Amino acid sequence: MSAIVVEGLRKQYGDHEAVRGIDLEVADGQVVCLLGPNGAGKTTTVEILEGYRNRTAGTVRVLGFDPAGQPLALRQRIGIVLQECALPADLRVAELLDAYRDYYPHPRPRDELLDIVELRGESAAPIKALSGGQQRRLDLALALTGDPDLVFLDEPTTGFDPAARRRCWAAIRNLAALDKTVLLTTHYMDEAQELADRVAVLVDGLIVADDAPHRLAGRHLAPTHVSFHLPEGRSGDDLPAVPGEIAAEGGKVMIATREPDVALYTLLAWARRRHLDLSGLAVAPPTLEDIYLALAGSGATR
Ligand code: ATP
Repeated sequence: MSAIVVEGLRKQYGDHEAVRGIDLEVADGQVVCLLGPNGAGKTTTVEILEGYRNRTAGTVRVLGFDPAGQPLALRQRIGIVLQECALPADLRVAELLDAYRDYYPHPRPRDELLDIVELRGESAAPIKALSGGQQRRLDLALALTGDPDLVFLDEPTTGFDPAARRRCWAAIRNLAALDKTVLLTTHYMDEAQELADRVAVLVDGLIVADDAPHRLAGRHLAPTHVSFHLPEGRSGDDLPAVPGEIAAEGGKVMIATREPDVALYTLLAWARRRHLDLSGLAVAPPTLEDIYLALAGSGATR
């Protein structure tokens, strides 16, 4: 079963076509991340899926429904966490959750919600006493009160410090463990890498890549960079033959290789036999950011 099926989605604003024919399928229980530069069409796409914007063309099914017109049966099964949300400062966390729970016929138990977002200890705290990160997690708990099958998260950790981001990631992982489907937008590559089963990259209204983070746009086939300082008294010509391209400049060696294990074994064996030190040895596989920037940079798709 697929939670989201989009075919040939288009959105025109006046003369400008912001979404130019998107196909996207999200399986039940998947965490899919939509990445893209500013103005790529992410918000437009997500808000069409949520039922807040109308499409110009294409078919969209969310949990089997057409979201246009926001049918109640769909609204009861989705949770939305917006980038910003003002919460009533004077209420206590438990009071606000209970007020939300009253809206739903079968709400999740309050303590379960607090556990998912790791706020059980703050249950009696007034909302104004929570940090920004804690308020965002409370926001997530509110989106989960009706026990939705599908959750939309819009840049859930923007502006957080590293510790707060990790707490939020833990909450999102808890969601995934409950088999919720999650569609996440973010500008952080580490977030996509950490959380997503799949990453779809949107550039200029088109999806230009869609795959697991480690395979996106051939990432698993792209070269790994091995670097180290040339040992004293050695030149680039002394280095052993390794698979890939070797560049030695200013005492630093950089090897771009698609067989990093063979290259490393050969280099380390060579250095050990000669009692040489490969100082500063670093192995850098292609990052999601490298791949993303190449995709987003080549974005002259019109
Ligand atoms: P960001 O990362 O900056 O939030 P985005 O990928 O979410 O960007 P959208 O907000 O969907 O991009 O915008 C896509 C394009 O459509 C942009 O060129 C934007 O200016 C334009 N656009 C968005 N909303 C409207 C609107 N209501 N009326 C006219 N143009 C719009």
